Amino acid sequence: MPADIPAVKPKTVKKAVTPEARLAKLGLHTDMDLVLHLPMRYEDETQVVTIREASMRGGEASQVEGIVVKNEISYKPRKQLLVHIADETGDLQLRFMNFYGSQVKQLAEGTRVRARGELKHGFFGAEMVHPAYKVVNEGAPLPTSLTPVYPSGEGLSQPILRRAIGDAMKRIDWTDTLPAALRDHMQLSDFEPAVKLLHYPPQEIDEHALADRSHPAWVRMKFDELLAQQLSLKRAQRARRSKGAAALKKVGALSHAFQAALPFKLTGAQQRVLDEIRADLRHPYPMQRLLQGDVGSGKTVVSALAAAQAIDSGFQAALMAPTEILADQHFRKIAAWMEPLGVKVAWLTGSLKKKDKLAAYALIESGEAQLVIGTHALIQEAVNFANLGLVIVDEQHRFGVGQRLTLRNKGNVGAVPHQLMMSATPIPRTLAMTYYADLEVSVIDELPPGRSPIVTRAIDQNRRDEVIARVHAAAGEGRQVYWVCPLIEESEVLQLQTATDTHAMLAEALPDLAVGLVHGRLKAAEKQEVMDAFSAGEVHVLVATTVIEVGVDVPNASLMVIEHAERFGLSQLHQLRGRVGRGSAASVCLLLYQGPLGGVARQRLMTMRETTDGFEIARRDLEIRGPGEFLGARQSGQAMLRFADLETDGWLVDQARDVAQELLHETTPDKAATVEAHLARWLGGKEEFLKV
Ligand code: ADP
Ligand code: MG
Repeated sequence: MPADIPAVKPKTVKKAVTPEARLAKLGLHTDMDLVLHLPMRYEDETQVVTIREASMRGGEASQVEGIVVKNEISYKPRKQLLVHIADETGDLQLRFMNFYGSQVKQLAEGTRVRARGELKHGFFGAEMVHPAYKVVNEGAPLPTSLTPVYPSGEGLSQPILRRAIGDAMKRIDWTDTLPAALRDHMQLSDFEPAVKLLHYPPQEIDEHALADRSHPAWVRMKFDELLAQQLSLKRAQRARRSKGAAALKKVGALSHAFQAALPFKLTGAQQRVLDEIRADLRHPYPMQRLLQGDVGSGKTVVSALAAAQAIDSGFQAALMAPTEILADQHFRKIAAWMEPLGVKVAWLTGSLKKKDKLAAYALIESGEAQLVIGTHALIQEAVNFANLGLVIVDEQHRFGVGQRLTLRNKGNVGAVPHQLMMSATPIPRTLAMTYYADLEVSVIDELPPGRSPIVTRAIDQNRRDEVIARVHAAAGEGRQVYWVCPLIEESEVLQLQTATDTHAMLAEALPDLAVGLVHGRLKAAEKQEVMDAFSAGEVHVLVATTVIEVGVDVPNASLMVIEHAERFGLSQLHQLRGRVGRGSAASVCLLLYQGPLGGVARQRLMTMRETTDGFEIARRDLEIRGPGEFLGARQSGQAMLRFADLETDGWLVDQARDVAQELLHETTPDKAATVEAHLARWLGGKEEFLKV
């Protein structure tokens, strides 16, 4: 084979994608976007050491310069390019497993190259595997600053990014958005030198401070970013307060009768958050409150009591849940509570027959339905409320920002409904402060009495027989069991197949038990039938996909088996486990895993074994995953923090909040200009997402 045929052929020939499109994919649209695309690390190409010196630096990358003395393609054990270089102190082999024909020519004998990498002592002597290299002339000057390495995407090489960013830096307006007095007072670096330093750090920089982002230049970036976020959130809060909402002033006959008819007494925490919500609903501007409470803490009843206040005040309330199963469960429970008290509750989901849907629309539009419970179907265009006073969104993290916004916009012209969002995913304080500065938060930090703790065990899946025996024993004691099928993210078909197989396997292994199956592909009515049978105790073992993840409430179920638990995220495992431990029986959660476990999976399973406290789990989740993934892009909109780290930069969050407060308080034209300029630089057009 001729040497100049590439060893790695480019995959299928694709349509040319412009560099602009590739940059846009990384979110880099404007010059300022590019300038604020900061390096994730640096390479030190400012120094060249001798080959001998490099060979003494165990494990550390170094740059050497030498002349190519030999260049060969070897086929053992596989095709690779071997380039030998030498300087006056020794020689070194550069090994390339993937290479192009052009490289073979470029690295011809006699060429002078600078190669950078980790020098290892292999079987054939000193070598660098896949070093970064450059062909140079003798005496070519070395760079004086560190070379930036940027977060990149497909088809975007570092040189392209470096050039694009360098060019953008020549075009932007560098005016500092923060007044000098403020910078002095806060001891902040100036914007331009800080940015330039981060792109091209001088060789003598404190690399440690650069790497851990404690360098003043980084602090300036983080502060700017946090300030933009705080400004934007505070403005959103003001905008919201300036909007009118119906004041739901009456906690009347329905509220009292409802609370009196409940088969239990509210916990202290439930009563406290209910009081907070009741006070908010009386205001003539829209409430925006997040009701947080661990799984099983009893959020539903609190939200139903909030709905009662809306109805008592002559307005409609709507409750939206992310799944049909959950919406159905809410509907039954709440209708059973409220209908005897004379409240008309309507039910609306996508799977209703056309006729029933139209009937529901009519009830909603005429105002006859005082409470509407359903799924995403509630935000369809055809749904018009007569006088929507309160919107309740259950498991709010399961909805996109846009979906929540749409429901809120279902209020009447000129008035925004109050909004109550519920979530069992607790948000640590710093996160809440940055992402939800515009949100009041109520926390139910107490479980209803009489719950017994859940014991969690991780079990290797080759002990499945023992697990099946336990399922049998539990059913023998009159308890019910969830068996959750593995998550197969790549393929819904496969996931379905697995669920069906698992069901067949368990039905065969447990011939004397009723084994049910529920998954996302069943028709609503079928799902309902299975869930009903399970609720009624007719089905002993319910094989389920993650459709049961949120909200499902069957207190008699006390054993949960999760297969391939290593594939689930922490909050998902916590949600799933929350399906048991709802009654007074001692509950058990068995996490079946397939070893060997990776580090992250092991950490997760350990966390699950160690605690059932949702806050603790969220804290560890944050530690393992970082805030970006923790919230998910959907959740945070475009407002992700890129630079600030909420674990270590909490102090900066506080400062940014104070400065934002000061800038928006008693606004002067100067302050207003500062706010505008700062928001334009840091958020561009992305502010909308923060307003939801
Ligand atoms: P979550 O907060 O996870 O949504 P739910 O609202 O589904 O929890 O409540 C869990 C269970 O606890 C339900 O069966 C509910 O009826 C019951 N429950 C709620 N509040 C109390 C209480 N104060 N005392 C006893 N049981 C309660
Ligand atoms: Mg719930």
